[in-house]
Amino acid sequence: MLIHAEWVLPIASAPVRDGAVLVRETRVRDVGPLEELAREYPGDPVERHDGCVLLPGLINAHTHLALTVLGGLLPSVSFGEWLPLLVRAVRTLTPEALEASVALGARRCLEAGVTVVGEIAYSAASQRIAREAGLGGVFFWEVLGVKPGGLGRALATHGYPARAPDIPGDPRIRAGISPHSPYTSGPGLLRAAHARTRAEGVPYAIHVAESHAEAELFEQGSGALAGTASRFAMGLAPGSGITPVRYLDDLGVLDGALAIHCVQLKADDVDVLAAKTAGIVLCPRSNAYLREGPAPVAALEAAGTRLALGTDSLASNLDLDLLDEARVVRALAPNLTAERVIRMMTTDGAEALGMGDSFGSLAPGHQADLAIFRCAAEVADPHEALLGCAGRPSLTNVMSGGEWRVRDGRVAEPSDAGLDAIIERARETARAALA
Ligand SMILES: [Zn+2]
Repeated sequence: MLIHAEWVLPIASAPVRDGAVLVRETRVRDVGPLEELAREYPGDPVERHDGCVLLPGLINAHTHLALTVLGGLLPSVSFGEWLPLLVRAVRTLTPEALEASVALGARRCLEAGVTVVGEIAYSAASQRIAREAGLGGVFFWEVLGVKPGGLGRALATHGYPARAPDIPGDPRIRAGISPHSPYTSGPGLLRAAHARTRAEGVPYAIHVAESHAEAELFEQGSGALAGTASRFAMGLAPGSGITPVRYLDDLGVLDGALAIHCVQLKADDVDVLAAKTAGIVLCPRSNAYLREGPAPVAALEAAGTRLALGTDSLASNLDLDLLDEARVVRALAPNLTAERVIRMMTTDGAEALGMGDSFGSLAPGHQADLAIFRCAAEVADPHEALLGCAGRPSLTNVMSGGEWRVRDGRVAEPSDAGLDAIIERARETARAALA
């Protein structure tokens, strides 16, 4: 099938006006001007999308889909005040509620044109549910608060696959490991988790320098996270006068890491992150919700870090709209072009997750993941049309792995219907716990 759009953005190559993508089964086979491709592949039907911009399925490099159910329930307060509330709310969620939450989150991703996530997973169920909904990506099994020797057991208990990074039955999904943060995973656990990811060749992610409280903990040993650190991060002796980035680098656990947030940085940190990490996930709206940040986007860009975008969870964001995240990044770093910011949620996001070989650009052989947006007005510059604030584009169609998942703006299957009652019950319980 040839899928046409007024503008096709392959990302890996120049935009094509009146372009088309040739999709055969699950993969992209060719990209170019419609006229040429129609001549070359006369047997393939053409589906036209006039007035639309087509680009690769977007990469939301940091999500917690299992927390989607908490949308709008937690207040916008500082990270140190928010974290205990989050813990209180999460404790009320049953396995059934968590699974419904992942399903709902997967739908919200598709509605935003996102087909790939860097998901913090709490069980094997999340990757199964997200995969059935049509998402690909890396599912980072989260560990915290266990002794280094307990890592294997903690992972096994939560269904971490025996032959990571591959998850049997799906080339679109990979497993990774994420010790939650330097203040909830002690130095021994951080080293053990990092060593295991290196040995298995799987991606490794960690929340880093997200808050003032985290910076204060490592600088002075005090602040809102001191109690959490003493309970969870076994073996940590905080207050050594260094930054969280420096602490992790001294431990040797930043190499190849996907570093999430990176808001509270000192000048040297930026160079360390550029030299060591696989990428940084900017989550500007989550940082603003928690009154932290913003991350020094221009400095990170100037240092040559690989930048990806994430929405984080609905416990600290308004929605899972990645284009809105991109608009905020542009506002924070006005020198970045729209094209540059779009790379963050396509090729660079895919590379940061270690999946650049299959996702993030429309190259032959890549997964057939496409997002199509209808633009309100005549499109002179397709990048600006996507990120401009006036006359925002609306999502019309999403394909993942060669299968249409959103048609005419509506998610195809499964429907929300079965989820509604579970979600509503879970929200009631969480609301009561927070009251
Ligand atoms: Zn997070």
